[in-house]
Amino acid sequence: SSLLKINNLKVKVENKEILKGIDLEINKGEVHVIMGPNGAGKSTLSNAITGNPKYEIVDGEIIFEGENINDLKVDERAKKGIFMSFQYPEAIPGVTVEEFLRASKSSITGRLQSVIKFKKELEEKMEELHIDKNYANRHLNVGFSGGEKKKNEILQMAILAPKLAILDETDSGLDVDAIRVVYEGVNKLKNENNAILIITHYNKVLNYIKPDFVHVVNNGKIVKSGGIEVAHEIEKQGYENIKVI
Ligand code: ADP
Ligand code: MG
Ligand code: MG
Repeated sequence: SSLLKINNLKVKVENKEILKGIDLEINKGEVHVIMGPNGAGKSTLSNAITGNPKYEIVDGEIIFEGENINDLKVDERAKKGIFMSFQYPEAIPGVTVEEFLRASKSSITGRLQSVIKFKKELEEKMEELHIDKNYANRHLNVGFSGGEKKKNEILQMAILAPKLAILDETDSGLDVDAIRVVYEGVNKLKNENNAILIITHYNKVLNYIKPDFVHVVNNGKIVKSGGIEVAHEIEKQGYENIKVI
């Protein structure tokens, strides 16, 4: 059934129209990939869905589980089950991964998480995702490699169990191991009741993930949608020559 439906979405950033009428529907159980050249509006779309206040909706609607969420704040959308991998560039010394994740879960669920129960839950998830136990005691992002930051993202997804997870791969400098951590995690976490939206500008992702739909964004619009063949077409021809639907 329909999880997210976006109708004719137009979004302004700093008074400039960036999204020029996006239509997109994501059902439960689906994995969607959005591709497109740099500056196309991909991150603007993810920010508009998660509710970043810098991104102003000027037209259209974002419907989540049948409800128009245009006017909901970031935390209200998060509580409804919309997750975007938090981009924490800075390290937070003194806060461990475990404490950070427990606080995230308390905040999303509105229920304070018991230290002991949470520890057990986290250990189970880490085992499932093949993440070393010691990782939970590391200080958040202090000396983390790209891959270790990504593990945190995936653990956060596992702990929060969002209905819609948006992974915006802004970090194209990731090495192959880091990419694998993320996408093996995604494959483990996807199920019939959630959906995943992956935003990327490179094809490597498709070595690890089989999307149900691939969309191409260019100049603030979805110019093409289809299956995996769309990604292969881009690989061969680049974005310039993509035939518009
Ligand atoms: P993509 O993720 O596809 O590379 P973006 O959505 O980041 O593209 O950017 C699309 C356009 O919107 C670019 O011209 C970019 O400069 C502009 N833009 C995006 N976010 C901001 C912002 N926070 N402030 C100013 N301009 C922005
Ligand atoms: Mg970009
Ligand atoms: Mg981007």
